[in-house]
Formats: sequence, structure tokens, C-alpha cells
Amino acid sequence: MTAAAQIYIGCHLSVTAGYEAMGKTMLSFGGNTFAFFTRNPRGGKSKDLLPGDAAGLLALLERERFGKLVAHGSYTMNLCAANLQTRENGLDMLGKDLDRMEQLPGNFYNFHPGAHTGKGMEAGIQLIADALNRYLKPEMKTTVLLETMAGKGTEVGGRFEQLREIIDRVELREKVGVCLDTCHVWDAGYDLVHDLDGVLTEFDRVIGLDRLYAVHFNDSKNDRGSHKDRHEKLGEGKLGLEAMKRIALHPALSGRTKNGLIVCLPVGKLPQAV
Ligand SMILES: [Zn+2]
Ligand SMILES: [Zn+2]
Repeated sequence: MTAAAQIYIGCHLSVTAGYEAMGKTMLSFGGNTFAFFTRNPRGGKSKDLLPGDAAGLLALLERERFGKLVAHGSYTMNLCAANLQTRENGLDMLGKDLDRMEQLPGNFYNFHPGAHTGKGMEAGIQLIADALNRYLKPEMKTTVLLETMAGKGTEVGGRFEQLREIIDRVELREKVGVCLDTCHVWDAGYDLVHDLDGVLTEFDRVIGLDRLYAVHFNDSKNDRGSHKDRHEKLGEGKLGLEAMKRIALHPALSGRTKNGLIVCLPVGKLPQAV
């Protein structure tokens, strides 16, 4: 496999035992990347990254030729909430998370763009771009990934156009990419089962496949367009095993980025099927 066609595969791991420990766990699973929450996904509390632990993980990543890691921001971080306190809490989390990411330089920081909770899509998009313009710095080594969303409630990011709008309004847009969640995209209404080519062509037209750095490989409990965002075990949901396989093997996904594509599976061991 050439570097241009590299796919790195890993799953979500818990940070409880530390950072280097996650690297060792992923090695034992046979993967070569992983995702983790930068802080408690629902509560927002973060785990300290001690310098020795960071150095240990960085050495492991280099030695074992891991792909980039995908850190995931808290679900409670909402950069475009109508409530000012919620929005400020989100900004505080973003700033601190991005600071911490610089201790693991060169990796991805992926987050849910937010929900405008009544302010309107246009205002939501602007607030998210404002937050990125505030915290992205030219010297930063981290690439921020906006996640495609199911369009649940007032979520921003259920349409590719909304992500494109955010990126267009960010000054340091070379530091911004996209993480495609297969469950979310399906729930948002894009037909990954019957028209995978069409969806990827649409992604390329609106956002550009060169901005796609990671795929969250999730099946969905609900029908296309349900806007629910409820994940199902791989192959057991409405996307199904055949469609998931076609996505995993699609040449547009495996052959197009110099950094390789990161595929994140749900929590747990890597299934043999993928
Ligand atoms: Zn996510
Ligand atoms: Zn989800």
C-alpha cells in the first residue's frame, strides 16, 4: 500500500488509564490510530496530560507508525448556544482543549459544531467561525475537524453547505477539515446505502474531499433523514454491513489524502469485518 492510499484504523478509547496506555491498548487491538475524548463527553471535566505521559505516547506513535489521532471535544461544548453562559463555557473548553492538543502536536481535534438553540442557522454558523477565529493560531500544529451532524433539533452541520460556510468564514482555514460520521450523514438524509457515489460527489463539490480527514464509522438505528443520531452496532443498523463495506472500500475515501484517512470505529475491539 502506498502512502497516498493509506487508511489508518482505530476505535474510540478511554483516557482513564492515561495517554500512553491508550497507545498500548490500540497496539494490542492491531489498530494504528485511535480516538479519545479530551474531557468527560457529557460533564466536561478533563484529564490532565502529564509531560511524561505525552512523551511516552508520542514515542509510541512514531515507533509504531501510527496515523494521526482524533481527539474528540465534549458533547457539552456548544460554541453557538443562544445562552451566553453555555457559549462561554464552550469557548473556554475549546481554548483549553486546543492548548492541551499542542502537547501532542500534529494531531486532529474533532468536535460537533454546535446547536444554535433558537438563534438561527446563520447566526450559529457565524458564532462557530468566530470561535475558531479566536483560538486558531498560525503556529498551532493541530488540525480542527468539524463533524458532519444528523441535523437533530437546531444542530449546525446537518448539511454539507453549513460546514462549508463555517470553513469559508475561518481565516486560518488550512487548519480546518471535516470528520464524516456515517450515522450522522445518513440520519441527515444523505443516501449512503443506494447512492454512495452521489453523496461523495456532493461532499466533494460542496466541501472538497481534500478536507476530509477522518470517518466515524457508525451504523444507525433509524431511517435515512430521521435526524435522530442514534448509533447502532456495525452492520446491524439501517446502513447494514454491505453498505458499510462499500464505504470502507470506496476509492474516493482510501486514495485521496496525503496524510491518510483516519477511520474511527465505535468503542471496543476492532471487529474483524472491517
Ligand atoms: Zn462525534
Ligand atoms: Zn452520533
